[in-house]
Amino acid sequence: MSITVDVPTNASDQPHVFPSGGVEPAACVTEAELAAQLVGDARQVRVLTGDRPTGPLHLGHYLGSLRNRVRLQNAGAEMFVLVADYQVITDRDASAGIADFALGLVADYLAVGIDPARSTVFAHSAVPALNQLLLPLMSLISVPELERNPTTKAEAAASGRPALSALMLTYPVHQAADILFCRSDLVPVGRDQLPHLEVTRTVARRFNTRYAPVFTEPRALISDAPSVLGSDGAKMSKSHGNTIPLQATADQTASIIKGFKTDTDRHITFDPALRPEVSNLLLITALCRGQDPAALAEQIGDGGAAALKRAATEAVNEHLRPIRERRAALAGERGYLSAILRRGAERATVEAEATLAQVREAMGMAY
Ligand code: ATP
Ligand code: MG
Repeated sequence: MSITVDVPTNASDQPHVFPSGGVEPAACVTEAELAAQLVGDARQVRVLTGDRPTGPLHLGHYLGSLRNRVRLQNAGAEMFVLVADYQVITDRDASAGIADFALGLVADYLAVGIDPARSTVFAHSAVPALNQLLLPLMSLISVPELERNPTTKAEAAASGRPALSALMLTYPVHQAADILFCRSDLVPVGRDQLPHLEVTRTVARRFNTRYAPVFTEPRALISDAPSVLGSDGAKMSKSHGNTIPLQATADQTASIIKGFKTDTDRHITFDPALRPEVSNLLLITALCRGQDPAALAEQIGDGGAAALKRAATEAVNEHLRPIRERRAALAGERGYLSAILRRGAERATVEAEATLAQVREAMGMAY
């Protein structure tokens, strides 16, 4: 179930699937396919992924995306990690506390193993050329296409606001600019992001057809936990108050997991379609332990939800302990965390300006 992407001793013997050369690109890659395709060497892969600074990162981020980012970074991929600060104001009026959340994200990244010496960690508001890419990209997709996007609809509904803001509607195109400015091949995301990634692929393809082949069409990397559920049985989300934050204490974690919704069948089975909440706890526990969730269900058997929750609490606390220790040590280091973002923005700006120059040239605008 877990991937191994250790750098091989003789990397040049290994086949390279990314970027697009050789193998027909599909829209998605699973963890298992990643392991098979990369065969330990990700040095030709460019990866971008990011998070909104709307609260502390949680177990859904970790199992859905962060673990794969770290694996790819450690296998040699060129990694861009985005603090998507402009996307905070898509579904809320104010951005109160955004600086704390942004620096908190950086601390979370470092705690899970993102290395700022190897990965570019930046906020997109600090990269003007990236944002300028939004203009040509917006010309390549229609308003009805954006209005049909199921994730945008769900997020708009969850925001509780009476009308969709133009920024919310165009959020997937902004995300396309995020992904395309650095020519990323692979985007480790949760399942909720697949419709957005499709927008990126669409505008990249249309740009290439209309002007010149500037962009590769990136693929989503979908983890073994593409949609971790929260305590209420809905997708674990920062803004839903249903999360296990990475930085929670062991006691807080125990109390959060105690409150997780389960069902009335005492016999524990792994059945994601019919028993989503129980299966979610099994999957979380199994991934933290490096075990198969169905085998774990058999072990717990008639122990019921109480035994399942005990196992989940123990596994999560055990797995997150070193991450939490690193996170706690970084918490007061605001100057250091800001400097990482500033350096990241400089590096991202070089990439974005080069891509924008190529885009303007392709459009005949290089006067
Ligand atoms: P918000 O409530 O502010 O939208 P969020 O918890 O949904 O926050 P995002 O910043 O929107 O988090 O998502 C960042 C990345 O983490 C995306 O790639 C998303 O797909 C992934 N992700 C978020 N929640 C989960 C989850 N519960 N399971 C798997 N992946 C997730
Ligand atoms: Mg979200």
